[in-house]
Amino acid sequence: NTKPLSDLEIALQSPMQPITAIAEKAGIPEDALELYGKHKAKIDTTKLAHLQADAKVVLVTAINPTPAGEGKSTVTVGLADAMKQLDQKVMVALREPSLGPVMGIKGGATGGGYAQVLPMDEINLHFTGDLHAITTANNALAAFIDNHIHRGNELNIDPRRILWKRVLDMNDRSLRHVMVGLGGPAQGVPREDGFDITVASEIMAIFCLAKDYADLKQRLSEIVIGYTYDRKPVFVKDLAVQGALTLLLKDAFKPNLVQTIEGTPAIIHGGPFANIAHGCNSIQATNTARKLADLVITESGFGADLGAEKFMNLKSVQGNLKPDAVVIVATARALKMHGGVDKAELKGENVEAIKNGIENLAQHIQTIRKFGVEPVVALNRFITDTTAELEAIQDWCKANNVKIALTNVWEKGGEGGLELAKEVLAVLEQPNNFKPLYNMEDSIESKIETIVKEVYGGAGVKISDQALKQIADIKKHGWDQLGVCMAKTQYSLTDQPKLLGRPTDFTITVREVIPKLGAKFLVCLTGDVMTMPGLPKEPAALRMDIDEDGNPIGLF
Ligand code: ADP
Repeated sequence: NTKPLSDLEIALQSPMQPITAIAEKAGIPEDALELYGKHKAKIDTTKLAHLQADAKVVLVTAINPTPAGEGKSTVTVGLADAMKQLDQKVMVALREPSLGPVMGIKGGATGGGYAQVLPMDEINLHFTGDLHAITTANNALAAFIDNHIHRGNELNIDPRRILWKRVLDMNDRSLRHVMVGLGGPAQGVPREDGFDITVASEIMAIFCLAKDYADLKQRLSEIVIGYTYDRKPVFVKDLAVQGALTLLLKDAFKPNLVQTIEGTPAIIHGGPFANIAHGCNSIQATNTARKLADLVITESGFGADLGAEKFMNLKSVQGNLKPDAVVIVATARALKMHGGVDKAELKGENVEAIKNGIENLAQHIQTIRKFGVEPVVALNRFITDTTAELEAIQDWCKANNVKIALTNVWEKGGEGGLELAKEVLAVLEQPNNFKPLYNMEDSIESKIETIVKEVYGGAGVKISDQALKQIADIKKHGWDQLGVCMAKTQYSLTDQPKLLGRPTDFTITVREVIPKLGAKFLVCLTGDVMTMPGLPKEPAALRMDIDEDGNPIGLF
């Protein structure tokens, strides 16, 4: 019986150290540690205020994801464990999983094989409740808005022009459009509303971008919730609830400490999706790790066209940090799919398809170089990969002067990432010329065009009439000097999920531009990307169970 162990089985049989021991090794003082059971703790960052956030940052990104799986979190965790084996003082900084994809299709966000963070099941389920706190703060604001209108609407809010939606941490397509306030005068004022998934909430973005409680409250107060009948913006500060919202986030806002299978300290905090939000863990988490360690390995969501672009143009700018090195994860399987192979045909060797699909990797390498950073490709090895396939990728990298390391952390943990770690350490010795791709003073249209042309490799942008009106309105209010957060399918460099590889001569359609003043960016919805996903026909939930002793089953 050679069936490999599942991620969950490996995680459950891996011994954990008490979190106090991990904290001690990471140099976290006892009075900054708030225990959540034996293996999770929150860090009170106010107790670390005297430390300098000066560690170097390695950002792990990837090619466009395919159903074949890339293994970005796996490589992130494995790289950190490898760095630890090389005696580096290292920490991992990851995003918190959302229950939507956990129950749906994507799987967890805790890595895989022998490169995982623990306790895997708890992190993937409710963890320390941060997403619930964010959901509650988001929905409290919705309740305050509806109550304000019900109680006489002193602010003159137009119920048809409310931007603020309710949220839920689940994929639930039936809630995309709802009516609230039905049932007569005692039940509020009827209006059309809708739900997003929690990770798309502006509160999640603010939570991840705020540097301290004061900044958190300030940003929450700046949220535009909608417009009055005479089209003036209404802010959270007009409702005077920023204090209450910040209070609801009091404990959630403290970064969470856990450990990898090999005992490397990991901070997991905040989890916006990279397709419909900015896709990076909290600035607090990254900067706390930068205070405690010499080297921080972090990841951003989906491919370099989404998470890495936003890490560089939004998170780095707002968080006063920069990537000192970038790792791009690729797999032979995924490159075959980018080269035109169907998922069902992935098993057979197909070097030709890899040679075609590698153009997708080439685009992302070019993107990272445009930001002034020389990337290292991590070729995440699957046991089904053939030597000829792996060599085709290595040869291409050699011919194009691209650094590449074969990575086997899924099977071997940190030991399987030593080659990658050494390549990354060599890159870290050289200073880079990191620079964001646009200036905040550029026009909105120009910022969008820069991303489309430089990062996606597109020919241009088509802006819908509705988006043009929204842009005019944003300019009128003087909000145009904010960053741009593209909402785009993760599967393709274009806004069409089925166009894999490296398409050329395409345009991106921007259908809406939504101001998120608290997050300090403008969300640009492209194609038909949705801020409330649906579940697939056979959700991952169908495989999940629990035994009589309370042990989880089938969680990947
Ligand atoms: P991403 O972060 O890119 O979404 P993950 O690291 O979460 O990807 O990995 C997705 C799934 O693929 C996990 O279940 C993981 O165990 C599996 N996986 C990753 N790398 C490998 C590998 N080299 N061989 C086999 N399975 C892998």
